[in-house]
Amino acid sequence: MLKTHTIALDPNNVQATQFAQHCGYARVAYNHGLADFKTGLDEGVWHSHIALCRRFNAIKHDTYDWCGDMSQNASKHAIYTNLNDAVSRWKSGQNRFPRFKKKSHSKSYQADSGRGTISVVGKRIKLPKIGWVRMFQTLRYLGTICKVVISKQGHRWFASILVDTFADEPIPDPRGKPIVGVDVGIKHLAVTSERQYFENPKALRRHERKLKRLQRQFSRKVKGSRNWYKLKDKIAKLHYRITCIRNDAHHKATTAIVKGASRIGIESLNVAGMIKNHKLAKALADASLSTFLEMLKYKSERTDVKVVEADRFYPSSKTCSACGVVDSDLSLSDRTYHCRACGHIQDRDLNAAINLRTVAEGHSETENACGDSVRPQQLRRESSNQEDSTVIGEQLLLFSLS
Ligand SMILES: [Zn+2]
Repeated sequence: MLKTHTIALDPNNVQATQFAQHCGYARVAYNHGLADFKTGLDEGVWHSHIALCRRFNAIKHDTYDWCGDMSQNASKHAIYTNLNDAVSRWKSGQNRFPRFKKKSHSKSYQADSGRGTISVVGKRIKLPKIGWVRMFQTLRYLGTICKVVISKQGHRWFASILVDTFADEPIPDPRGKPIVGVDVGIKHLAVTSERQYFENPKALRRHERKLKRLQRQFSRKVKGSRNWYKLKDKIAKLHYRITCIRNDAHHKATTAIVKGASRIGIESLNVAGMIKNHKLAKALADASLSTFLEMLKYKSERTDVKVVEADRFYPSSKTCSACGVVDSDLSLSDRTYHCRACGHIQDRDLNAAINLRTVAEGHSETENACGDSVRPQQLRRESSNQEDSTVIGEQLLLFSLS
């Protein structure tokens, strides 16, 4: 089984510079290959990635005389893997024609030269031309290292290590654990029918003022000056921090939910549709609920826990979890659900989570892990955007009041 572990690196100054140089080399090679491919197309010749690699290798020492100090894996993968992928996606109609990579483009390069060519010992990794680099963690998986990608996020360098694991770890048996409904939202990131409440860290909101201040300062600096670069790094660092806070909350919540469930019921949100509403966009993007649900799905899949998505029209918030009556007049400012039919009183999010659990309970064993058969038609989804927006809109209002 192939598994990836991304580990933060702790390079010294020389190594950090070498990383940046290798990323630059990968970019130059990619752009050269793309230009070559384009010229070929104009002349009516289709250069394969193998040909592009060969053509690049033939001229590289003359055109880019500095490339001798670099690991040639960087340029090879840039053309052989990345450019080839981009071209095949364009060819199959999946993507637009590949574009040239800018200097400001996210920095990364692939360091290995095939399976088992990179060694990791304890908290160190040996990279071609660079040597042993310290890592902040040991590699989580035992097996053959297939691929290593070095990349930069904010101020930090990372190694994404793809491992072909020797033996699959035994999956804990989910049977005997309860069926759990999960209601996601802006106020709480998630509420489960087991009465677990996961706070939304509101990472962006917490750092919004600081970010704005930095961005204002940044706009006043002379482009390309030393202070301009300093602030640019500061902003990148803050963005990275915001992402980390959000990811941390997502990982902790999803792991806890998946560990304690035999089956999970979730709602199907059209977040992409809702985000078009500018008033909600920021809070929704800050919570990144779709990422949360995706994370929940892939973690469930790994541990054999089924995920059942409710129909988009299923009124999980408006249904009484005790008697099943739908209260369409339910005001969204009510944080508590009060059933007019049976008098049932419950926290609004918990009520929704219990309804989603009921959806998961009614789902037959034979359907697949993602619960494809209970998903509504694509066409029907579009029409419900409006309703979803209002629901989240009022939730947002509450959120900004709280
Ligand atoms: Zn009721």
